[in-house]
Amino acid sequence: MPELPEVETVMRGFRTAFEGQRIRHVTVNRPDLRWPFPLDLRERLEGQEVLSFHRRAKYILMRVGNGMSMMLHLGMSGRLLLGQSGMNTTPPRHEHLVLETENEARAGLVDPRRFGMVDLVPTDHEDTHRLLSGLGIEPLSDKMTGPYLHSLMQSRRTPIKTALLDQRLIVGLGNIYVCEALFRSHIHPTRAATSITLQEANRLATFIRAILTEAIASGGSSLRDYVQADGTKGGFQDLHLVYGREGEPCSYCATGYTVSRITQSGRSTFYCANCQK
Ligand SMILES: [Zn+2]
Repeated sequence: MPELPEVETVMRGFRTAFEGQRIRHVTVNRPDLRWPFPLDLRERLEGQEVLSFHRRAKYILMRVGNGMSMMLHLGMSGRLLLGQSGMNTTPPRHEHLVLETENEARAGLVDPRRFGMVDLVPTDHEDTHRLLSGLGIEPLSDKMTGPYLHSLMQSRRTPIKTALLDQRLIVGLGNIYVCEALFRSHIHPTRAATSITLQEANRLATFIRAILTEAIASGGSSLRDYVQADGTKGGFQDLHLVYGREGEPCSYCATGYTVSRITQSGRSTFYCANCQK
């Protein structure tokens, strides 16, 4: 499933291809994904200039000249294929939406499982959209400081790992990034969120930012393949220190400890029982 760094990577590719261009044609190939496409999607987008792009959590917002934003979520399996109009003689399977610009840039939304969504929202009211209004802070924003993270954790009666996955507090981290951030911060994943000290929250804030920045710089996940269609993988999986490494030697303590795996709230947690207190 695409997480924040992958969505950021897709958004940046989309921006490079579409910003400043005018949308010539919109093709909607089925009535719905997770929810119906807006009935006026075509009418609202065709002929409009693409002004800018924005990411909020795992939503991509494309802002156009008439004051509307197209909101896009890739769901579990969605991909945005970027290319040139007329280059693909056979459209890929499961391509449900296609946007084309006057300069022949083409974006196709391919989503076999259809957990993704597309909606329209007035740009001035993006934050009040039902799917965005309850979201927590962006982990890469200036608001995400140690003291702020500390204050957020003081309100949660759950393990720290569960609290960090709560989208109402902080968005887009996902299971991989939370495991990695807790490992680098030397915080045990089953600790109560309320037990996190200010000093630990400072470390956590620093590492969350560092990990997401590294993941974005390395191209996120294999989603990048679909954007660039060149077969190269994003490199972040090679930088995982604990995620998916159960039984491998801990890369920090070198005392014979190996990475452990437990299940929390139905999801795997990877950690070192020696390093993380
Ligand atoms: Zn260790």
